[in-house]
Amino acid sequence: MRCVKCKNLDTKVIDSRLGEEGRAIRRRRECEKCGARFTTFERVEFISFMVTKSDGRKEVYERSKVQSSILKAFNKRNVDHAKIEQLINELENEWAQNKRGITSKRIGRDVLGKLRDIDEVAYVRYASIYNNFEDIQHFLEFIREEFS
Ligand SMILES: [Zn+2]
Repeated sequence: MRCVKCKNLDTKVIDSRLGEEGRAIRRRRECEKCGARFTTFERVEFISFMVTKSDGRKEVYERSKVQSSILKAFNKRNVDHAKIEQLINELENEWAQNKRGITSKRIGRDVLGKLRDIDEVAYVRYASIYNNFEDIQHFLEFIREEFS
């Protein structure tokens, strides 16, 4: 596993524990070069469904994409990563029940709905990506409506 800070490939596991009722392993790692510490999650890939994108193309759902977009919204915010994993798990369980797949639009909307309860700043950041505001005016209108 590559170090998140210096990209060095030699990192050692300093702690591992089970999470998500035994469906995931959480590993605390330390870079052998720069000493940076970070956490990785290893989980069983048991959910699979199709996602229809806004241009109509379909692709297999990838958790990592949802995860990285959420983590981006939480950049430099203090957040419990286990909470984010939990949030994605809950949504995946709902999404997977749709046998014909779901739209990427719905993924965005559902994530947004969850973020609002967790962190308002992350929520606004995610909303700005998801809604793709044309200009600052549209963005301010959105904020006004959401938080009034
Ligand atoms: Zn490093």
